[in-house]
Amino acid sequence: MNLERSQKLFEEAQKYLPGGVDSPVRAFKAVGGTPPFIARGQGSRIYDEDGNEFIDYVCSWGPLILGHAHPEVVGALKQVAERGTSFGAPTELEVTLAKMISSAIPSMEMVRFVNSGTEATMTALRLARAFTGRDKVVKFAGGYHGHADGLLVKGGSGLATLSLPGSPGVPPSYAQNTLVAPYNHTEAVAGLFERYPEEIAAVIVEPVAANMGVVPPQPDFLPSLRKLTSESGALLIFDEVITGFRVAYGGAQAIYDVTPDLTCLGKIIGGGLPVGAYGGRREIMEMMAPSGPVYQAGTLSGNPLAMTAGIETLKILRQPGVYKKLERATSHLEEGIREAISSLNLKLNVSRFASLLTIFFTDRPALDYDSVSGADTALFGRFFQLLLSEGIYWPPSQFEAAFVSLAHSDEDIQRTVEAIGRALKQLQS
Ligand SMILES: *Cc1c(COP(=O)(O)O)cnc(C)c1O
Repeated sequence: MNLERSQKLFEEAQKYLPGGVDSPVRAFKAVGGTPPFIARGQGSRIYDEDGNEFIDYVCSWGPLILGHAHPEVVGALKQVAERGTSFGAPTELEVTLAKMISSAIPSMEMVRFVNSGTEATMTALRLARAFTGRDKVVKFAGGYHGHADGLLVKGGSGLATLSLPGSPGVPPSYAQNTLVAPYNHTEAVAGLFERYPEEIAAVIVEPVAANMGVVPPQPDFLPSLRKLTSESGALLIFDEVITGFRVAYGGAQAIYDVTPDLTCLGKIIGGGLPVGAYGGRREIMEMMAPSGPVYQAGTLSGNPLAMTAGIETLKILRQPGVYKKLERATSHLEEGIREAISSLNLKLNVSRFASLLTIFFTDRPALDYDSVSGADTALFGRFFQLLLSEGIYWPPSQFEAAFVSLAHSDEDIQRTVEAIGRALKQLQS
């Protein structure tokens, strides 16, 4: 594969951007090699600066559930851009998207738009602390909720990819208020509530974990969290930044029929533009300024471009059959991979939930961060490179999900399955 131009750009980038990137996992540190610099995307494909074509399973890490440059999204964006990109004043588009979100996810009676998932979780915690008058929060090892100070403790995503336990620059006094439990371990959470009665403001959880690779919840996990938080007077926060409008139109809470007090969204609701949102029960949300005393603001929050991309994306997602189509494509991918590995002598575990999929290079069932963190990341790195050279852009980390979009055709999936089969066979020999 010719990566000449990308190589040059990467060298240049490293002079001006730390590590050459604006988000760590893009630098391919965990898998080695030069990251292709992307020139454009269309449907399921991305094209780099050297003209290489890839079937994309990153999809901007989740937002592009319709694929790249969807004509309806791009068309609407062009029209809106011509009328002005930001006003710092209210617009009808914000009301439209908030109503769409609230009717899809009824627990979000009120919504506040921000510019990233990080801002959403950060503010949801501030709000939970203000509402309960308590300081401590519970998160799960391997759970990622953006890069706000108190939430980096034992984080997934890039922290897992680079084996970082947390981050320098976070005062211990912040991190002290973050309690960590293993995912799927209800007793551990119960233990924390016993140890800190009336001190825990909230439990924040990815209802389907997807930032340590895909780790679905055990059947009783989310209902137990609901029960424990309610009994203690703490809030339950679902971080559905990935799962919202991804695993179902109503998010993971619709599938598991567990109602959180607050929900965080991002990714898909921005249709590829920077966005985040948090929302929940009216009495809690009304504590936000200007209706209440809890402060949070944003110069570009709810800007017309991001709102438009979100509205157009949700309009397509609410059409009948959309999630069935995603399910079908991803289950074909899963079955194809399972068939390919059945004849091989490799320790692998395919973990899938809806259109999220991870091939773990360990045979331990994906239950919590402990069970997946021992995966053979060196072998994964070789797998990744083999796929890349076959024109498949898989997530460049063992601890991230692959994202299937509505733009992935049967042929795309078939080509991917064949490439994965060849790559794994080569790894075995
Ligand atoms: C991506 C992600 C975030 C952070 O969102 P950003 O927009 O990257 O700040 C938070 N929580 C989860 C579950 C995510 O996957």
